[in-house]
Amino acid sequence: MSSEPLLRVENLKTQFFTEAGTVRAVDGLSFEVREGEIVGLVGESGAGKSVASMSIMGLVEAPGEIVAGEITYKGETIFGLEEGPDGELRKRDDALSDEEIRTRIRGNEIAVIFQDPMESLNPVFTVGGQLREFIELNRGLGEDEAKAAAIDMLREVGIPDPEERYEEYPHQFSGGMRQRVLIAMALACEPSLIIADEPTTALDVTVEGQILDLVDDLQAKYGTSFIWVTHDLGVVAEICDRVNVMYLGEIVEQAPVDELFYDTKHPYTNALLDSIPRPDRTVTELEAIEGVMPEAITPPSGCRFHPRCPDAREVCKRVHPEAKVVDDAGGEPHRAACVQHDAFDVGYDESPPLEGVAGGVSTVRDEGSGDSGADSELAANPTGDDSGGGSRE
Ligand code: SF4
Repeated sequence: MSSEPLLRVENLKTQFFTEAGTVRAVDGLSFEVREGEIVGLVGESGAGKSVASMSIMGLVEAPGEIVAGEITYKGETIFGLEEGPDGELRKRDDALSDEEIRTRIRGNEIAVIFQDPMESLNPVFTVGGQLREFIELNRGLGEDEAKAAAIDMLREVGIPDPEERYEEYPHQFSGGMRQRVLIAMALACEPSLIIADEPTTALDVTVEGQILDLVDDLQAKYGTSFIWVTHDLGVVAEICDRVNVMYLGEIVEQAPVDELFYDTKHPYTNALLDSIPRPDRTVTELEAIEGVMPEAITPPSGCRFHPRCPDAREVCKRVHPEAKVVDDAGGEPHRAACVQHDAFDVGYDESPPLEGVAGGVSTVRDEGSGDSGADSELAANPTGDDSGGGSRE
């Protein structure tokens, strides 16, 4: 495996210029994807996950615009800005042109699977015809060869009787089967990276499990890397190697998947974990995350999670934490954007509790405890009125 990541995203900022103001949908995103790994982008609706995906694919449309950052893929710059002679930002000379991205990268090198297959499949053409045409266009095969390749791909993704199903229309496929078709389409050009944007959200859990198993098998067979966009940490646990948790356009925690689950470093991640059923703990009811995510047009001051954070203190309103390495257990950096950690050194311990925030249980687990700190906190403090008991480094 090469030490150079397949994809590197650095300080990416994507904004939407609306009449109401500037929406900072993605605000300083940095992460990487290595060869053959599945990397999760996780967060609630409005976190900026999908805009990040569209930015990587070069699919952001007006009034949206990437205003800063760099994206490199296999060492080539697919997005980068520099200051021109007039002082205005312009695309860097060494960045691939829009034409190169359209013809060489999108579909061939980086493919995407969307949540709703009916938006990606044309209902008036047969499934096989659409897959064949995609292969003809992107792999330069003749019609017969492309048809054979399309049927092979349908078989590969577990469509029974692929020769017959090739002639059928999207409405004749179930939701799970349509999603398999999209996976076939994404894999058809043997891309190195697939961005899967909530591809199992609309499926029931049984079909979702089947799709995740399929992706696991295909990933092992082809070595394809994935960015898996989801709001569901259960899916992340099942499929991802490393995880980026997003909140209001920023990454708030970044870690290998086991680290994230068993040594959680950010209260938002912990709140997400408390909202899903887990086999490693028993609770009488799941915790909903207090409040709603604010608009990206008017993000809160300081830590953007502070209005909802049970550990918030006065300092959290003033200091805007960017994700820093807070642990490197296992040789992989574990980053978190939370001033509770020593890496920030902003006086969290001395800062008084913040009144009027969500309130609730302390959420960041004890260092190295390896089990659910939230559970023990719940047991110790069932009323959830301890605003200052967050465990820290
Ligand atoms: S403790 Fe403070 S910095 Fe950490 S997540 Fe909560 S509000 Fe943000």
